[in-house]
Amino acid sequence: MWCLLALGQRNSTNDRGTLSRYNGLVRTAVLPADEAAIERAARIIRAGGLVAFPTETVYGLGADALNESAVRKIFIAKERPFDDPLIVHIAHIQQLALLARHISQRVWDLTERFWPGPLTLVLPKTDRVPSTTTGGLDTVAVRMPSHLLARKLIERSGCPIAAPSANRFGRPSPTTAQHVLEDLDGRIDLVLDGGPTPIGVESTVLDLTQDPPMILRPGGVTLEALQEILGEVRLLSSSASEAAKRSPGTRWRHYAPQAQLLLVESAKLEQIVRELLEDGKRVGVMVRQSHLPCSPPSSVLSVIHMPLDLSEYARRLFAALRELDAHRVDVIVVETVEERGLGRAIMDRLRKAAQDEKSHQ
Ligand code: AMP
Ligand code: MG
Repeated sequence: MWCLLALGQRNSTNDRGTLSRYNGLVRTAVLPADEAAIERAARIIRAGGLVAFPTETVYGLGADALNESAVRKIFIAKERPFDDPLIVHIAHIQQLALLARHISQRVWDLTERFWPGPLTLVLPKTDRVPSTTTGGLDTVAVRMPSHLLARKLIERSGCPIAAPSANRFGRPSPTTAQHVLEDLDGRIDLVLDGGPTPIGVESTVLDLTQDPPMILRPGGVTLEALQEILGEVRLLSSSASEAAKRSPGTRWRHYAPQAQLLLVESAKLEQIVRELLEDGKRVGVMVRQSHLPCSPPSSVLSVIHMPLDLSEYARRLFAALRELDAHRVDVIVVETVEERGLGRAIMDRLRKAAQDEKSHQ
């Protein structure tokens, strides 16, 4: 028998408004993203350094996308395989032609409707883009973020910014400055703290080098919204070989908490949690619809009530996984969500986080 525990949020900055930590001898500064901090961040980017900054999706780890040695530092800081390509962020539509070739009417229709916003377009790359940025591919992934801080930083830096999520490779993506520090403290030059990110899951990656276009990663812009503009749109098959060929980043377990993650339908949730507890496991649960029976407080069961609204759910998703890890649970049991709209992106992240683990679907 279990009782529901409410888990609190942690602050991302201390009472002086800034936060710095030491990891060995190196220090990563965290600054509230005011004008002076953005200027300092832009100087770091221009000098070939690394800055984490908020976008509307998650925090990104940015470097000058056209500077090969700067981009290399991203892979090293994140421990990301060098063949997993980065998304390049721009502030003005004019920057697109610097990066991509074959910009068709279809591209303009999409950018007019969805940029700035959480849609990444994969297009043939120009010679200006180092192959390190694109993981050796001859295509480049480009996006114009809607977050004002992100666009200001790109503008002030005077270059497109390559920015994958600012986490260690394979971990849940960071939606606060504190999450960035948890993973990258001491490995990067600066974190711009702009508060929690409003969408909470990454951008939709759409490959326009094939016809019909293919969604390589579901995200902030839904399949339904893309179909309105493009008509037919394919979704990358979850078959491992197809995914690896089209989108190298999908090959590995991703977004994963330290605990084992089980994705479970509502009907089976209660029974599975009960069995795990009987096995002596410390269990974390992310529940939406199901009711778990309430009983005396327990140090072995932590429950997070996830919102019914899918946008709210997406915003909380990665923070909830990190929170349960902080409670040192052995297993996180997550109730499945419906696969429509943003639910596709949520289930994609949860499946990848559960990869190679026992599935109860
Ligand atoms: P992240 O940077 O962590 O948000 O991940 C970026 C995602 O975009 C990864 O899954 C990459 O595989 C994918 N991606 C980036 N560039 C390309 C590209 N040129 N072709 C196909 N997928 C790409
Ligand atoms: Mg990522």
